[in-house]
Amino acid sequence: MEGIVFNIQRYSIDDGPGVRTTVFLKGCPLTCLWCSNPESWNPLPEVTWRYTSCKKCGTCVETCPLGLITLDEDGIHIDRKSCDRCGKCVEACVQGALRMSGTKMTVEEVYNIVKRDIDYYKLSGGGITCSGGEILMQADFVAELFKRCRKNDIHTCADTSGFGSKQEMEKILAYTDLVYYDLKHMDAEEHKRFCGQSNDLILSNLALVVEKRIPMVLRVPLIPGYNDSEKNIKAIAKTVAELAKDTPVNILPYHRYGENKYRMIDMKYHLKDVKYPTEKELDKAKQIIESFGLKCEISK
Ligand code: SF4
Ligand code: SF4
Repeated sequence: MEGIVFNIQRYSIDDGPGVRTTVFLKGCPLTCLWCSNPESWNPLPEVTWRYTSCKKCGTCVETCPLGLITLDEDGIHIDRKSCDRCGKCVEACVQGALRMSGTKMTVEEVYNIVKRDIDYYKLSGGGITCSGGEILMQADFVAELFKRCRKNDIHTCADTSGFGSKQEMEKILAYTDLVYYDLKHMDAEEHKRFCGQSNDLILSNLALVVEKRIPMVLRVPLIPGYNDSEKNIKAIAKTVAELAKDTPVNILPYHRYGENKYRMIDMKYHLKDVKYPTEKELDKAKQIIESFGLKCEISK
């Protein structure tokens, strides 16, 4: 079985307990405005352009057999809708400014990388985390990979937005030891406005994780002006407290680490003017969540 992987990060310490290998999968049905991995949205491999490495030599323009690349004072532009991912432009760019993001890999190939650090997992209580993108888009692949890991006593963590079918979620949960579950907005319309889709599937899959009694960490990205209102934080905390009071909540403060990636795939970053949340704002959100009897931490 093959999946499309856009990164494998070894020695990761932020994607679950202990030392982990995080496997990033391509494809996401959401388009959250603050996403720091926009190159993960397209489920297929795609050409990325590192403008800091580009010498504007024009070689890729001449190389593309379909004539899809143009060059102006801002750099190159690719007609991505018509690109057939032949990779000729990537091969031609000696500066290394062009890369193909997303590679087809078998479960075996990914597992062979994951198992290299098995001793570190044992010592630190770590394991594998599958992230994205949205892992539910490659549910069969993730389930098979997790199954393989579990057989070899490697702890499995599913990092998900919860946007997918119940069947896809069940496939993955069958081999999952821990779920990192993102919850962004409780208002369906606002969720659609900021993330491109309603939150109904997300809420029903959240209840499913609770029903299956799989340990979970609920993660709330805090984006000033978008989802940080008292009303929304209270609504999130109330939902979690009613479903599973022992679920810890992590607040993920807004950051802009992914901003430059938008330009790499000819997309516009829309949150340029959003300020980072202040300590006071983060503490306030934490206190609201704790007032519902939940444990809450602010991620660094
Ligand atoms: S992306 Fe590479 S080949 Fe294309 S113009 Fe820039 S340096 Fe030249
Ligand atoms: S991948 Fe192929 S079709 Fe797409 S822009 Fe590059 S050369 Fe052209």
